[in-house]
Amino acid sequence: MTDLSTLIRRLECAHSLRLEDYQTLIEERTPQAAQQLREAAVRVRKAVYGTAVYVRGLIEISSYCKNDCLYCGIRRSNRLAQRYRLTPEEILSCCEEGYALGFRTFVLQGGEDPWFTDEVLCPLIAQIKARWPDCAVTLSLGERSDESYKALREAGADRYLLRHETATKSHYEALHPAELSFDNRMRCLQVLKELGYQVGCGFMVGSPHQTAQDLARDLKFVEQFRPAMCGIGPFIPHHDTPFANEPGGSVELTLYLLSILRLIEPELLLPATTALGTLDPIGREKGIQAGANVVMPNLSPVSVRKKYMLYDNKICTGEESAQCKGCLAARMASVGYELVTHRGDPMAWKG
Ligand code: SAH
Repeated sequence: MTDLSTLIRRLECAHSLRLEDYQTLIEERTPQAAQQLREAAVRVRKAVYGTAVYVRGLIEISSYCKNDCLYCGIRRSNRLAQRYRLTPEEILSCCEEGYALGFRTFVLQGGEDPWFTDEVLCPLIAQIKARWPDCAVTLSLGERSDESYKALREAGADRYLLRHETATKSHYEALHPAELSFDNRMRCLQVLKELGYQVGCGFMVGSPHQTAQDLARDLKFVEQFRPAMCGIGPFIPHHDTPFANEPGGSVELTLYLLSILRLIEPELLLPATTALGTLDPIGREKGIQAGANVVMPNLSPVSVRKKYMLYDNKICTGEESAQCKGCLAARMASVGYELVTHRGDPMAWKG
């Protein structure tokens, strides 16, 4: 048996561990190991990114969704979910406001809403890129056809976020209805990468039925897939879903995994997510102090924010975008980091 301290030192040098060693690191987590990981992760992140925190403006374009993911508050079976979709004009207004506030990445995220065809999205993406050429456009719109991913890329989209949710097929099947397939999710990620997107994968921490071995597989997947970004956050139950009574994920474990991910891939873009800030009032600050280097404040119109409820008690649903940005800037400064105004490409990106 190798002790945790040795495993952590090995991970920092080799950027890789055996699957069973990742599992040991998770199962035998101690406050001492967490501290050692945190210190190593911060050292590595500062060597690559200094104290810069990259900012992405999140525009939640639709709460309509044709999917039925068991964990998600906007799943189609939730008849109580409030539905809306933004018009292309409203989305452009969000970008305009965001640009003035210093955002240089716009993330268009939404449920899988068939209204947002390529015919709607391609001209919208082209317009954003034409009006603000120094900005990156990120899409987070779930699974689409290969042809659609290609058309959106050709229209100018730079990045695509599609969490793999779990790298274990049987676990994926426990979180999704039968019509969604693990194999297709993984295939989409591969296609996105081949099309030249900067790809973000990711997973929830503490999702129902998740084991330490599942999390170890998630880490191994990130190590091997080599995404530009990996978004992780604690699972938070939504009261109108089948998982309403499941326990939420652990903030401590999420922070621990953030540090491990930083050591697996020093240049990885790692967001301190809204879910982390929802479960812990200073969760995002703790995320940055565990090795994260990205934040994604909300740029959606205030009028729709309470309708994009993936989970209960989501923060920042009552504020104006300017307030959100100012609040986050102060939070980052309070722990010695600063928000930066540029696209925030990954360090090694040669695109
Ligand atoms: N429809 C898009 C965007 C999904 S929302 C897509 O499929 O990619 C972004 C992420 O929120 C999801 O990938 C999921 O990991 C996370 N999420 C959904 N419900 C959640 C919950 N109850 N708790 C925590 N995270 C959740």
